[in-house]
Amino acid sequence: MAEHEHVRVAVIGSGFGGLGAAVRLRREGITDFVVLERASSVGGTWRDNSYPGCACDVPSHLYSFSFAPNPDWPRTFSGQEHIRAYLEHVTDTFGLRPHIRFDSEVKRMTWDGDALRWRIETTAGDLTADVVVSATGPLSDPKIPDIPGLDSFPGKVFHSARWDHDYDLTGKCVAVIGTGASAIQIVPSIQPRVGRLTLFQRTPAWVMPRIDREISGLERRLHRTLPVTAKARRGLLWGIRELQVQAFTKHPNELGFVEQLAKRNMARAIKDPALRAKLTPDYRIGCKRILLSSTYYPALAQSNVDVVASGLTEVRGSTLVAADGTEAEVDAIVFGTGFHVTDMPIAERVVGADGRTLAEHWKDGMQALRGAAAAGFPNWMTIIGPNTGLGNSSMILMIESQLNYMADYLRQLDVLGGRAALDARPSAVHAWNRRVQERMKRTVWNTGGCTSWYLDASGRNTTIWPGTTSEFRRATRRVDLAEYQVLRPSGGKDGAEREPAAKTREAAA
Ligand SMILES: Cc1cc2nc3c(=O)[nH]c(=O)nc-3n(C[C@H](O)[C@H](O)[C@H](O)COP(=O)(O)OP(=O)(O)OC[C@H]3O[C@@H](n4cnc5c(N)ncnc54)[C@H](O)[C@@H]3O)c2cc1C
Repeated sequence: MAEHEHVRVAVIGSGFGGLGAAVRLRREGITDFVVLERASSVGGTWRDNSYPGCACDVPSHLYSFSFAPNPDWPRTFSGQEHIRAYLEHVTDTFGLRPHIRFDSEVKRMTWDGDALRWRIETTAGDLTADVVVSATGPLSDPKIPDIPGLDSFPGKVFHSARWDHDYDLTGKCVAVIGTGASAIQIVPSIQPRVGRLTLFQRTPAWVMPRIDREISGLERRLHRTLPVTAKARRGLLWGIRELQVQAFTKHPNELGFVEQLAKRNMARAIKDPALRAKLTPDYRIGCKRILLSSTYYPALAQSNVDVVASGLTEVRGSTLVAADGTEAEVDAIVFGTGFHVTDMPIAERVVGADGRTLAEHWKDGMQALRGAAAAGFPNWMTIIGPNTGLGNSSMILMIESQLNYMADYLRQLDVLGGRAALDARPSAVHAWNRRVQERMKRTVWNTGGCTSWYLDASGRNTTIWPGTTSEFRRATRRVDLAEYQVLRPSGGKDGAEREPAAKTREAAA
């Protein structure tokens, strides 16, 4: 990477968000951009999570880009390797490789208020950019809890998102920590070959059957020759989820009958009443992500599996100790304990106009205008930012909405002309956040009686979007300049001058 290279847009990350941004930039006629990726290949989530059984919980025809349909999805719910291959294919089809800088981890981004640009330090050299699009992913930095004694555990330890494929689990005593989406895929995948599996469960999950099947050759041919059929399939999958949202956001009590279905799913596989009691959640279904699996409960019913209904609190040599005192001696520990979501690491690396990092700015909780822009961080936007997550549908829908917003943001900068930057007004950020948090009060995520990774340390839900995906699409269709201040270079040392955006818009019109 040449020193002091300057680009119009620097995209960070090459998962669905970063690759989608790259496609969109090219479609907008912008070619002066780079994609900075810390790893050596594209794929993000679907590159890093290669654990046994890793698969998507949203059907493939919906969990894919609308502009890059794949008529050849092999199963209704695709596995990790197929989604990863899809993203490689998107990268090649849309000619993105020349833009991507692999092995380029962004260490620091600093806003230069005089030059109105971002100074970006990466492990492969420095550059500057007019605009930064941060697509580093909400679930990309694994979290391993701080367990006393873990450092001196003599066996193998790894996180679900950093699976060690060289370590053979056959015949071993293995502890799986956690009962989230990854853990419940790992357990049935490794149970037949391990000697003993001990599952440390702090909170049981609600698990619904996974209706997964091969997509027939006939269906695929139909989707290939008549693309409208694939579109209709996607539309149907989307519509069903769109209708479900009301129950999550406004009428959580309506979810009671779904609990009955989940209990029946459990009862079919778990005959032991004591184990059923351990596995039955005491919170409203949907409060934590509803998990889909038809193999999890049957695996837990096997004789080589123990469920410890208590969290792991200590490691003494090769013995794991749970909060309720239960002990288990193991050869390996697999952490399915999630990611740094509400404390996203990239926030510590972004330094805004007042010299504070985004992490400091967000110390009382993440918030961003329309899930994208933070006040004091001009021309910086995040994909899958605060309150853009979904409990029941495809994140690709949200990403594409944010790409609409990004495209309009860049168009607005073009209209303004000259050297300019947009800085979200604090009042606009607060107003947006107030509306989001107001709507959040009635949702199952806030009222369902659970704690989850959707909530930050203070109990505020800063991750989930409390509405339909169409509402979010409408909210992000265009940039409202009244929500921004326009910055112009001052030429002096005091940084940029600020113009009221509304006045500028009138002038542009
Ligand atoms: C196991 C698993 C299953 C999931 N299943 C579903 C599902 O069923 N449905 C659903 O909608 N969503 C699911 N998700 C959520 C998923 O993360 C999103 O759907 C989507 O893939 C996120 O894409 P992204 O591009 O925003 O982030 P990511 O895919 O995480 O990509 C971020 C990229 O940024 C790079 N990066 C991070 N920091 C830096 C840095 N400092 N410098 C340079 N590069 C950096 C990373 O290496 C990575 O390549 C799942 C996530 C996981 C982990």
